[in-house]
Amino acid sequence: MSAPRPCNRLTVVVAAYNEADSLPLLHPRIGAVLDGLRAQGVDGQVLYVDDGSADASWAVMQRLASADPRVACLRLSRNFGKELALTAGLDRVLEGAALILDADGQDPPELIPRFVEKWREGYDDVHGTRRQRAGEGWVKRGTAHAFYRVIGRLSKTPIPRDTGDFRLLSPRALDALRQLRERHRFMKGLFGWVGFNRIAIPYERDARMAGRSKFNLWRLWNFALEGITSFSTAPLRLATYLGLLTAAVAFAYGAWIILKALFWGDPVAGWPTMMSVILFLGGVQLIALGLIGEYLGRLYDEAKQRPLYLVDTWHPATGVSSAQV
Ligand code: UDP
Ligand code: MG
Repeated sequence: MSAPRPCNRLTVVVAAYNEADSLPLLHPRIGAVLDGLRAQGVDGQVLYVDDGSADASWAVMQRLASADPRVACLRLSRNFGKELALTAGLDRVLEGAALILDADGQDPPELIPRFVEKWREGYDDVHGTRRQRAGEGWVKRGTAHAFYRVIGRLSKTPIPRDTGDFRLLSPRALDALRQLRERHRFMKGLFGWVGFNRIAIPYERDARMAGRSKFNLWRLWNFALEGITSFSTAPLRLATYLGLLTAAVAFAYGAWIILKALFWGDPVAGWPTMMSVILFLGGVQLIALGLIGEYLGRLYDEAKQRPLYLVDTWHPATGVSSAQV
């Protein structure tokens, strides 16, 4: 492990999309934790990112900022999704470590001091691993469970199981993460790619304090696709093997038909066989094409080189040194 580094500044980054009901409940909890950290010599701040909310979230953030000089808020020009909102937030943490927290209180802020403790011990990526997920149905828990196992198998990048975005990143891990500017951002994979000294903190995931989850099953499915295509080319290889297998069977069957016709003649045309072969081959080809399309689409998005997000308004924390611009 590397030599101890000064650990005196921490920014809690909270991405929020339509969380006007949760934020006023969450902020006092974060505030209390930051007060406690202050006593230990850690200068804590909060950065709220409004991911193009349609409700009063932005007004709530501004109110919190005017009442508490430790609050900075950033508003994106529209809803870019949690991963990009977090990226926007992390891009603004120019000094010290960052800690990522959900706005709905599912990741308890009261655990932050334990993350900071691990950071002080020299860890760069301290992540919360869910022991339990209160208030989430069995479908969500079951699919999440399966997802972590599949991606663990497919991807060469280590992606810890049952680990969300609740984590602390040291300055050098943050710096490394900032260099990864890909558009399709599967954050769990990106954190894993960065590496350095990592440690898990098991915790019980609470139910939401207010509002409802933004991730329905369809969004989760797309999220899983994003994860797999961003961190593994195994599906492409699978298509190759599927194609090879189909071709081998087709050649063997073709040889058999030719031999049969040569030796015994060809009395009746095999309509059912022909139809099944055509449909089978057509199906396999379409699946392989679709797979290639998934990767090609992502390549197309990367090739456009658009900015990852656009900022509408940026209010730095008033009680912060000028290094934080
Ligand atoms: N979120 C966001 N942009 C979005 C969707 C969600 O910033 O487009 C935020 C949301 O406000 C919350 C966090 O991401 O702070 C996690 O979202 P949610 O609680 O809906 O997901 P779940 O916990 O159900 O997986
Ligand atoms: Mg949540």
